[in-house]
Amino acid sequence: MWSFSAWRRQRTLAKHPISPELWRQVKHDLAILDALSADEEQRLQDGCILFLHSKHLSCLPGVELDDHGRLLLAAQAQLPLLHLEDLNWYQGFHEIVLYADDFLSPQRYRDASGVEHQWDGEHSGEAWQQGPVILAWSGVLASGGWEGYNLVIHELAHKLDMLNGDANGLPPLHSDMRVSAWASAMQQAYDDLNRQLDADPEADTAIDPYAAENPAEFFAVTSEYFFSAPDLLHAAYPQVYAQLQAFYRQDPLRRLNHLKQNHPDYRGSD
Ligand code: ZN
Repeated sequence: MWSFSAWRRQRTLAKHPISPELWRQVKHDLAILDALSADEEQRLQDGCILFLHSKHLSCLPGVELDDHGRLLLAAQAQLPLLHLEDLNWYQGFHEIVLYADDFLSPQRYRDASGVEHQWDGEHSGEAWQQGPVILAWSGVLASGGWEGYNLVIHELAHKLDMLNGDANGLPPLHSDMRVSAWASAMQQAYDDLNRQLDADPEADTAIDPYAAENPAEFFAVTSEYFFSAPDLLHAAYPQVYAQLQAFYRQDPLRRLNHLKQNHPDYRGSD
């Protein structure tokens, strides 16, 4: 449910229409939107208008956002919510801060002996509990293809995860899902990935080894793959794919397979 009342929602949609030409350009830049149905495209556009109306985009020096850039960001942010209309899933924040490029951010870690270590880590995105989402614009621009990388979806998956407390890899599941099935699928895959990296830190893993950092990153990275490399995720961890399919109520693998069947050279040779 949106925080807007229905009439306000309609008024916002009517006041801020997206021009067909602008939408065509954004779609051209975002291959992961290929093969959406006409109805889904319309709902995605509505979601973009409401998202841009309700979130404040703060641009740091070096980021010049025009309507195209704003829509490019919104469309990727809204894709995961396309079939999740029962809740205001991005209710936990109002601001998105955009850096031009990767940024330094203070990090803390307390080791087993209780000593706290602090350092500046280089990041392309962060999502703060009760705070903004921070994105490197260069990372947003590098997202949108079928390459297993999507900074926007990654950071916003953390926000979904934080809806029911700290980010721990368990977002609020739907009533037709079981926490035990989710936990079992995620844990097995997480353990498998960690086993491979323990045996060989340089192992050529099926998904980004960053997913092995902790369960929250595992959910964020597998969400990225779900939308941007569903074939790789499904081949490596089919049960994780099935849980994410139940959660997001979408089947990006079906979309990608459909595109490949109709265009054998779709997405190049990989
Ligand atoms: Zn993350």
